[in-house]
Amino acid sequence: MASPLLQLSDVHRNYRVRSTPLRRHSGEVHAVNGVDLVVRPGETVGIVGESGCGKSTLARLLVGLEQPTSGTVSWRGDDVSGLNRAQRHHFHRSIQLVFQDPHASLNPRRSIRDSVAEGILTHGLVPRNQVEDRVTELLSQVGLNAGYLHRYPHELSGGQLQRIGIARALAVEPQLLVCDEPVSALDISIQAQVLNLLNDLKRELDLAIVFIAHDLDVVQHMADRIVTMYLGKVVESGPCEEVYGTSAHPYTWALLSATPRRAGSDRERIMLQGDPPSPVELPTGCVFHTRCFAARAECSTQSPALLPVAGATEQHSAACHFADEIAKSSTSIPQSA
Ligand code: SF4
Repeated sequence: MASPLLQLSDVHRNYRVRSTPLRRHSGEVHAVNGVDLVVRPGETVGIVGESGCGKSTLARLLVGLEQPTSGTVSWRGDDVSGLNRAQRHHFHRSIQLVFQDPHASLNPRRSIRDSVAEGILTHGLVPRNQVEDRVTELLSQVGLNAGYLHRYPHELSGGQLQRIGIARALAVEPQLLVCDEPVSALDISIQAQVLNLLNDLKRELDLAIVFIAHDLDVVQHMADRIVTMYLGKVVESGPCEEVYGTSAHPYTWALLSATPRRAGSDRERIMLQGDPPSPVELPTGCVFHTRCFAARAECSTQSPALLPVAGATEQHSAACHFADEIAKSSTSIPQSA
């Protein structure tokens, strides 16, 4: 197995918040709460979970836009916090973020040529007199012709803008793309085109991708491995086929059962009740116990570790006291004691 490109070890990211008339609680928001994650060259890791589960904070940690409160982010085996200036420069170039809203990520007063050329010039990747040729080549890679070079963001559709966002990311020749809900702002008819483009680019350029989304069908289309997050924690991770076929955590099961493609499958539909608890006051024990259909008495006091699922591949882990039982129950919901 290839050595990790990027590795997170017990990473936490907390924010201090004050109480306001609209917010009752002051204290620490636990946005990312002890995450371990490995991304290897050429693989796509899908990260799923409801809004507010910490996915976007994780994306910002991965690309170095946020620093962990504690824990370690390593790039090719080196702790990022200990990199020297030149190494840090290389790290920031090697990981690029593709945003959910490409419109917001582009300067409306800059032409497409100038926006895409920015990273090439900053990193001195080609001589100045070859920049336009390089931008034209990048546009071609994302399915756009040279006619877009001198256009401005307001002249482009959402799908075209997202292609420009991807071209900008590719301009600095990254090894890893972190895509944060890259198609959720697009029409359904355009989503498949952008997803297929990302898959093609991954193969052509041997890219690794971290693909963050709340739509599990979209993630299945993209990912080799999937990571489920709840309240800032990884609650399940494993090969995509295995997690989708025999999910070992009730939360993953509930998310999967709610996807349209699985509505008619033989697994029972789980309706998650209520909203996730406040990330300022995390529940004791298992963080999911307040909404879990399979919770038992010990779940409210004992926190489950992320452990390998019995009988599964060693890469399939779940943070549930009853993961083995959940994984075996292919057609019916395990009953609470
Ligand atoms: Fe549900 Fe208990 Fe498993 Fe948590 S540990 S997911 S509450 S069954």
